[in-house]
Amino acid sequence: MSDEPVTMTIDGRAADAAEHFDVINPATEAAVARVPDASQAQLDEAVDAARRAFPGWRATALPERQALVRRLGERIGAETEWLARILTTEQGKPLADARIEIGAAAYWLIEVAGQDVPVEIVTDTPERRIETRHVPLGVVAAIVPWNFPVGLAAWKIAPALVTGNTLVLKPSPFTPLSTLAIGEIARDILPPGIFNVISGGDRLGPWITAHPGIDKVSFTGSTATGRAIMRSAADDLKRITLELGGNDAAIVLEDADVEALAPRLFWAAFANNAQFCLATKRMFVHEAVYDRLAAALIAYAATVVVGDGAAEGTQIGPIQNPAQYRRIVAMLDAARAGGIRFLAGGTVTPGTGYFAPISIADNPPDNAPIVAEEAFGPILPLLKFGSDDEVVARANASIYGLGASVWGRDPARLQAIADRLEAGTVWINTIHELAPHLAFAGHKQSGVGVENGLAGLLAYTNPQTLVVARG
Ligand code: NAD
Repeated sequence: MSDEPVTMTIDGRAADAAEHFDVINPATEAAVARVPDASQAQLDEAVDAARRAFPGWRATALPERQALVRRLGERIGAETEWLARILTTEQGKPLADARIEIGAAAYWLIEVAGQDVPVEIVTDTPERRIETRHVPLGVVAAIVPWNFPVGLAAWKIAPALVTGNTLVLKPSPFTPLSTLAIGEIARDILPPGIFNVISGGDRLGPWITAHPGIDKVSFTGSTATGRAIMRSAADDLKRITLELGGNDAAIVLEDADVEALAPRLFWAAFANNAQFCLATKRMFVHEAVYDRLAAALIAYAATVVVGDGAAEGTQIGPIQNPAQYRRIVAMLDAARAGGIRFLAGGTVTPGTGYFAPISIADNPPDNAPIVAEEAFGPILPLLKFGSDDEVVARANASIYGLGASVWGRDPARLQAIADRLEAGTVWINTIHELAPHLAFAGHKQSGVGVENGLAGLLAYTNPQTLVVARG
């Protein structure tokens, strides 16, 4: 365990707490740090600091706010190696992936800092000027999960601050260290109170969503928690953005070059150890190429190195936390007991670290839990289909609608299928292309609202119409 004290950032200063909790390295199960467990009074302090800072920040000219957010992005980028090592230690992901995540977070801050907050001039005559502009909401709370702790925090920090809000950011209790480190970096860049980072256990999230001093909750996490947040936010009609779970379908048509695509499709499902909201979680493969793609995926899976993310050459790390690990073990046990056959993996061998094998299931029924539920771990069901109508209906038969992808050669047919898919992002012959200027929204129970793009930026504002009578 590191002796370095880990602190929260409240009102621009380091803050410890009376109570603490341990952060565990999921590859070794060793405690790596003790982290402040914020009290209700400390949450109040953070919210009060953000409230006090709000009028000044709102009045700060947009170019200056943009410049400070850009500087934060540049500093995070400059600290990539330090932050990536912290991220791997707490999250488990391979160091190379951690570097990519920190780089993406820095990029997001810098890019969003370049976005403008538009003013719509509705009328401009000698008698009247009418404009609709976008004013900040006030204090935003950002609540982030453990799968991409820094990347997903950046999606919230950047638009909230650029549009003139102040922020209270809460990382997952499983992965607070990299986010707390970013709070530390921000102390030297942003004026006090603008950007607060507090850590805590299971009680802190509900305190935040019920807090009357918070105007908006921007949440990324599970659909179950999203529902709880929506309920809690109803009391004072807080604005909410909810980015929730997914059960994304990939549809592989019979004219796809399945041997060439196999590595791409493998990572579509297993990147970040499949702990990825947008991971392909149901792979529908046309019956004419099913056996070929299955063979190519199994052959590729055998070459992939699963291990401690800190070790050179690791491509997939452990499952991030014990609860998630137990859930994956139980899902695999139940699937085997129910007669589902695995083409790869399927059985967890207990040992040190929360490791589960890459598991590929052979055409389980659509109502099997490993198909119908979001596993959020390395279990991929391969599902055989016969016709386009059939596969569209099966892909859409889900409470989720986050992402989807279609793979094949005939542009018209690919487009026709894509047009019928119920998902916030649909990719054709590509996947996981995300960018600061591309709207990202969950349909159905995958979310409420949008992140990224102009709509994502404006989600941190209220429209305000100004009518000026002249003469
Ligand atoms: P989670 O919902 O358990 O926790 C997410 C965050 O919410 C954590 O910080 C947690 O402490 C906090 N939290 C938990 N209960 C709360 C409550 N009642 N009130 C307020 N806050 C609360 O999710 P997780 O297990 O950390 O993450 C996995 C889930 O996140 C998956 O379902 C995944 O699909 C989803 N996810 C979605 C996206 C997206 O953009 N749509 C991205 C990544 C992950």
